[in-house]
Amino acid sequence: MPNLSKERGLGTGQLQMYRAFSVFLCFLFVFVTQARAETEYPPYSNLYVNDYAAIIDRRDEIYIQDALEALRTETGIEFTVLTIRNTSLYDHHGPIEPFATGLFNHWGIGNAAKNDGVLMLISRNDRKMRIEVGSGYGRTKDRPMKRIIDNIIIPDFKRDAYSSGIRRGVDAVVYDLAGYYPGDKDSGFVTRSINRVDRFIDRFSGWFVAALAAIFGGAALVYKRWRRRSPRKCPRDGSRMSRLDEDQDNEHLYDGQKTEEHLKSVDYDVWTCRQCDHVTIEAYRSWYTRYGACRLCNYQTLQGDTTILNHATTSSTGLKRIDYHCHNCRSEYSATVTIARISNSSSRGGGSSFGGGSSSGGGASGSW
Ligand SMILES: [Zn+2]
Ligand SMILES: [Zn+2]
Repeated sequence: MPNLSKERGLGTGQLQMYRAFSVFLCFLFVFVTQARAETEYPPYSNLYVNDYAAIIDRRDEIYIQDALEALRTETGIEFTVLTIRNTSLYDHHGPIEPFATGLFNHWGIGNAAKNDGVLMLISRNDRKMRIEVGSGYGRTKDRPMKRIIDNIIIPDFKRDAYSSGIRRGVDAVVYDLAGYYPGDKDSGFVTRSINRVDRFIDRFSGWFVAALAAIFGGAALVYKRWRRRSPRKCPRDGSRMSRLDEDQDNEHLYDGQKTEEHLKSVDYDVWTCRQCDHVTIEAYRSWYTRYGACRLCNYQTLQGDTTILNHATTSSTGLKRIDYHCHNCRSEYSATVTIARISNSSSRGGGSSFGGGSSSGGGASGSW
C-alpha cells in the first residue's frame, strides 16, 4: 500500500517555506493596516466651520456659521465645512474620497439614526474638494452635489475666490437639502422672492439684466391682473360670465372661505353664468399673510402665538411654545419648539459634538 501522506502531504522543507510565507503575509497585513490607520484626522473645534487652510474671510465665516446653525435647528441636519491645506499633512496620500469618508465617520457627522450629515471638504493645495453625504441619502445627492461643485464652487475657486465659492456652495447645498436659501428663513414670500431676484442680478450683475427683470416682472403683474379680471366663458354653454362683487360672492362661499376672505389670507372671485347659473370659484392666496393652514379644516385661517418658555443663552438652547388657534373651526393646539443657542462669536459651535452619523461614500468631488 503506497504511503498517501508522504505523496500528497508536504515535505518538511516545503512546510517551513509556507510557514515563513504566512509569517511574511502577517507582517504585510500588519504593515498595510498600520499604514492605513496612520491617517490622523484633524480634530474639530467648531461644529460648523473649521477653516484650517485659512481661506474663508471673517464675514463669510460668520455667515456660514449662522446658516449651518439655523439649518441644524430647523431640520436637524448637521452640515459642516472643513478646509485643510493638504491631506498629506494627515498622512493621507492619494485621492480625496477615502479621506473624506474616513473623516466623516471619524467625526460622526449627522444624526446616528438618520445618517443625514453633510461634509464639505476643501483641500486647498491639493486643489481638490468633496461634498460627502451621510449614508441616509443613498446616491440621491451625488448628482445635485456634483452640479453645485462644478457650476457654483469651482468657477470661484479657479479665480482664487475661495471664500465666496464656499459661501455660495453652502447656500446651494442648504437650498438643495432644505428648500430655502440661508437668510431667507423667517421671511415672507415677498422678501424671499426679492432676495432670489437680488441674487440673480448679483450674479449676472449689470443694469441690463436688472432692467429686463423689472420690465418682465412688471409685465407679469399687469398680465396677471388682466387675466384675473378678464371675462370668463361658461364651460357649459360658452356664454359670458360675470364676476360678483365682494358682497354678492359671499353666498357662494363656504364659511371657511369667508373667514379666509375676512382675514385676507385668500381672496375669492366668484363668476356666474347668466344663462345657466353655472358658478366658478377662483382662489387667490395672499403673498404676505401671517395665517397658516389649519391642520384640521385646511383653511388658511390658523394663527400662531409664540410664548417664550426658556430664553436661549450662550450655553443652552431655549424653548418656546406656539399656541395655534383656527379662526374657522376654532380648534386649538400647541407645539413646543427649540430655540437655537445664542451665538457669541468666540464660543460658537464649540463645546458640542456631532450626532454620530456615518457615510458610505455618497456625494461628489471636484478639482480645479
Ligand atoms: Zn352657462
Ligand atoms: Zn381650522
